[in-house]
Amino acid sequence: TTSANPVDVLIVGGGIGGLSAAFALAREGLRVRVLEQAREFGEVGAGLQIAPNCTRILHDYGLLEEAKSLGVLPKSMVMRDAVDGRELTRLDLVDLERRYGFPYMVIHRSDLHGIFLGACRGAGVDLVTDARVGGYENTASGARVLLADGRTDEAAIVIAADGLHSVARRLLVEDEPVSSSYVAYRAAVPIERAGRDVDLSEVSVHVGPRCHFVQYGLRGGEMLNQVAVFESPKALAGEADWGTPDELDAAFAATCPEVRAGIPLMWRDRWWRMFDRDPITTWVDGNIALLGDAAHPPLQYMAQGAIMAVEDGWVLARHVAARRAEDGAIDWQGALAAYEAVRPEHCRRVLTTARAWGELWHLDGAARLRRNTLLRARDTYDYSFTDWIYGPTALTPEEEPPMFSPIPLDSVRVD
Ligand code: FAD
Repeated sequence: TTSANPVDVLIVGGGIGGLSAAFALAREGLRVRVLEQAREFGEVGAGLQIAPNCTRILHDYGLLEEAKSLGVLPKSMVMRDAVDGRELTRLDLVDLERRYGFPYMVIHRSDLHGIFLGACRGAGVDLVTDARVGGYENTASGARVLLADGRTDEAAIVIAADGLHSVARRLLVEDEPVSSSYVAYRAAVPIERAGRDVDLSEVSVHVGPRCHFVQYGLRGGEMLNQVAVFESPKALAGEADWGTPDELDAAFAATCPEVRAGIPLMWRDRWWRMFDRDPITTWVDGNIALLGDAAHPPLQYMAQGAIMAVEDGWVLARHVAARRAEDGAIDWQGALAAYEAVRPEHCRRVLTTARAWGELWHLDGAARLRRNTLLRARDTYDYSFTDWIYGPTALTPEEEPPMFSPIPLDSVRVD
């Protein structure tokens, strides 16, 4: 086995999803072990936007102040057209915090990951690296994982938080990641390198034909974070080597000067091809449950991927706590069923909305102009866009707010 100490819960994958779930369960007094394939725990990438439905949970965990000290609380989020640079719509994030009770934050991914890692250490989670899980099986009393090096480990339940290419997901469905043909370039650089005036009090999104550009400050404004996303012509043509830097430059050549000024700062040695998967409604196989991207990898247009993973762990831990008898025995099946009753439908809504949102952002021609008219007509203080997502995370299907379909997409398509 990976360790002599028996645990109640095994978590496969030490990303933001796995570590936050481990902390949520450990703070309920459970013995938890995380098995991570990498040499070390860590996160690649740059910034992460965390909306009130995540900062509310960080507050519940006692981690919000630490997150605030590392992140930035922007004052507004502004969407502009990437071609003419004109404003389309905005959120007042100061008013938004009043409405939802918790702030909208931006934070470096490795900082949020580090907060959960520290919290897990403090809560006594057994953190194991160099542990690649290749197989899963249910047993009479729980579930067992098989490691690539031949070791095994077992617990009452196994949570698979093993990301987009999840091995555990194969227990439930035979599907593959779906390519969007879009690719993301990122950059997190010292603010001095911006070489221009950047308003770090706002999260800025420029949306344009087949591309968009996101920008905000990180680490108390010392860093500038940028994301440049575009549709790859080589991907559409079926070429294997797609999303290369020459395509980046071509994709943004016709955008406004503010966007073009940011492109030379993008990291050019790595890029992220964007995949999601179709939503699935079954996440539990016996004593094995999916969590995070393993269950619901989204396209990132709602900026809710990591947040959904954090919500999953919070919901699961609440249901586990509610089903523990005086003697400590837990009705695991009841807890997993309650988790599966609420989370897949919520995440299905986010995944499908993210796809629709991406289409809306990337429109061209007459449809783009009609979209711009629609977005300009939106009142800054109309929260019907965000209430269903930024409000308190539902613990039951009854608590789940009605889904809001933001834009009648059909009305903006060109036939
Ligand atoms: P992962 O982060 O993929 O972690 C999986 C972990 O499991 C890894 O550590 C991996 O090494 C380990 N693992 C995998 N297989 C095994 C195995 N067999 N055995 C052991 N360990 C294994 N989300 C937001 O909320 N806000 C944003 O602003 C945002 N922006 C984004 C921008 C971009 C460009 C992209 C691509 C994504 C963005 N997301 C955002 C989404 C977010 O990054 C993911 O949804 C989130 O990181 C998923 O976390 P996870 O822990 O479920 O999976």
